[in-house]
Amino acid sequence: MGPNLSTVISEKDLQKRIKEMGETLTDKFKNTSVLAVCVLKGSFIFFADLIRQIECDMNCEFLCMSSYGSLAHSSGEVKLIMDLNSSVQGRHVLLVEDIIDTGLTMNYLQKVLEIRKPKSVTTVTLLHKPDAKKVDCKIDLVGFKIPNDFVVGYGLDYQNQYRHLPYIARLENLN
Ligand code: 5GP
Repeated sequence: MGPNLSTVISEKDLQKRIKEMGETLTDKFKNTSVLAVCVLKGSFIFFADLIRQIECDMNCEFLCMSSYGSLAHSSGEVKLIMDLNSSVQGRHVLLVEDIIDTGLTMNYLQKVLEIRKPKSVTTVTLLHKPDAKKVDCKIDLVGFKIPNDFVVGYGLDYQNQYRHLPYIARLENLN
């Protein structure tokens, strides 16, 4: 039997919350110049929707992270497989993640960025699984807190499938 999908966050709820997050970030960055960083691959849809809700002076950059092992459980080791194309030194950085699970990816990224001396780093994640936390990382704004289940859709994949779904779903009957 293949996996079943059950909706966890509808398209309507996602868009409503992202609009609110955009307003919060507009208040924060109104008169600031921001370097918005999309953490690929999972964040690409959230990033595209979120930045269009933020009114400020903005540059966009992309980096790509990968965890070793490609299944539903991360191996605990992360690597940077594509770096930013521009310097973050002296910039206000807005780091946009899809999901914080153990915190390892975000913890690693925050260390990598801090060394480069940005003026500030604001961390945003669409989803957060507080119960899965293994290491600390600074999170400034969370879209939704979710239980410790494996989810897909809205950019998030399982074996590179399901990224195109406009909603977040739990994947059941995973082997
Ligand atoms: P962390 O380093 O916080 O454990 O995990 C971060 C990364 O693991 C995310 O960027 C994402 O790629 C992957 N991940 C963690 N939980 C899930 C999940 O429920 N679904 C999917 N598709 N990826 C997840």
